[in-house]
Amino acid sequence: MAVVLSTEALERMAARRAEYLAHRLKVPITEEQYLWWDDVITHHHAEALATYEKLLRWTTYRPSTGCFSTNLDTVLKIKFRGVNVVAHRFTYAIHCSLPLSQKQVARHQCGNFTCLNAAHIELGDQAQNFQDYLAASAYGIRRDLLPRDPLGTLR
Ligand SMILES: [Zn+2]
Repeated sequence: MAVVLSTEALERMAARRAEYLAHRLKVPITEEQYLWWDDVITHHHAEALATYEKLLRWTTYRPSTGCFSTNLDTVLKIKFRGVNVVAHRFTYAIHCSLPLSQKQVARHQCGNFTCLNAAHIELGDQAQNFQDYLAASAYGIRRDLLPRDPLGTLR
């Protein structure tokens, strides 16, 4: 079963983007990757949303985990506006209208590196990403604790 964004999800994403646009760049930021995402969210959003929906339609929904799985044996990378981007980073940044910096790692909380479900992504650094790996190896993944809504993780 392919994944399609609901009307409600699209409306909440639009409201979050409006909020981002109202408050963006209040302090000067020069980090290159952050500015690239800001440009995508601000000026190329329709194209980004179309790519996001295309990516989701291409995934398979796994009811047991809630994952939107690519079924690949490696992390999916896409090219968007001439730039190579990791696909789950893309779905998170676009769903949440949140530019990402080079230092921010999009960590899978579901332990499934082929998952594109933005709700299963949490931002952090490399050290936290490694902690996730150690914790998942030792205790497994608490699927019942995974968020259902990506935007719910922002507040
Ligand atoms: Zn997942």
